Amino acid sequence: LAFSSCGLPQKLLQNIETAGYGMPTPVQMQVIPAALDGKSLLVSADTGSGKTASFLIPIISHCANFRLSNFSNHKRPLAVVLTPTRELCIQVEDHAKLLGKGLPFKTALVVGGDPMARQLYRIQQGVELIIGTPGRLIDLLTKHDVELNDVKIFGLDEVDCMLERGFRDQVMQIFRALSQPQVLMYSATISQDIEKIASSMAKDVTVVSI
Ligand code: AMP
Repeated sequence: LAFSSCGLPQKLLQNIETAGYGMPTPVQMQVIPAALDGKSLLVSADTGSGKTASFLIPIISHCANFRLSNFSNHKRPLAVVLTPTRELCIQVEDHAKLLGKGLPFKTALVVGGDPMARQLYRIQQGVELIIGTPGRLIDLLTKHDVELNDVKIFGLDEVDCMLERGFRDQVMQIFRALSQPQVLMYSATISQDIEKIASSMAKDVTVVSI
C-alpha cells in the first residue's frame, strides 16, 4: 500500500512527500484505509511507530473534503484530538500544521498555560481540528459555547496515560458532547478496561495491533 493509492487530496499527498514520508509505516498501512472508510479503531501503537500521522492523515483528509464541498461562513470544528499533556498536544499540532499546509485545515490548541479567551476566540473564528487535554477542554465546554455538533472524528492519543492521570470521567464527558463520532483510540497497551471504554463509544470497534 502506498499513500498515493488511498484517495487522499492531492495537496495532502504533496505535504506527506515534503515531510519525507516515502512509504506508510505498518501502523499507517493498517489504520489509514480503515479510518478513511469510517471505521472506529482501537490501536496499540508506541511513540515512533508513525501513529500521529496515522490519525492526522484521515482527519485532514476528512476536513479538507468536507470544507471543499460544504460552503459555510460559520465553520464549526470537524474533529477533536485529546492527549494527556500540553507538550504532546503541541507536538500533535506541529505535525498537523506540517501535513495540513495549504489545505482548508486550521487547528486550535486547548491546553493549560495559555489564556482560555484566546483559545476560544480562535475556535470561534473557525477551525477544523481542536487538539486539547481533557481538563482544559472540559473547562472550555462548561464555561463557554463551543459547538461540537459537526465533529465527525474523535481521536484519543495515549489513552492508557490519560487513565493513569485520572481523566476517565472527563474523556467520557467530552465524548458525550459529540454526536456519535468515529473514534480513533490509541494506547501503548490495550487492557480490558480500555477495550470497554472503546466499545462504549462506538458500536463496531476494530482492534489494530502491530
Ligand atoms: P510518532 O510515532 O507519531 O511519534 O512518529 C514518529 C516519527 O516518525 C515522527 O517524527 C514522524 O515525522 C515520522 N514518520 C511518521 N510517518 C512516517 C513515514 N511514513 N515515513 C517516515 N517517517 C515517518
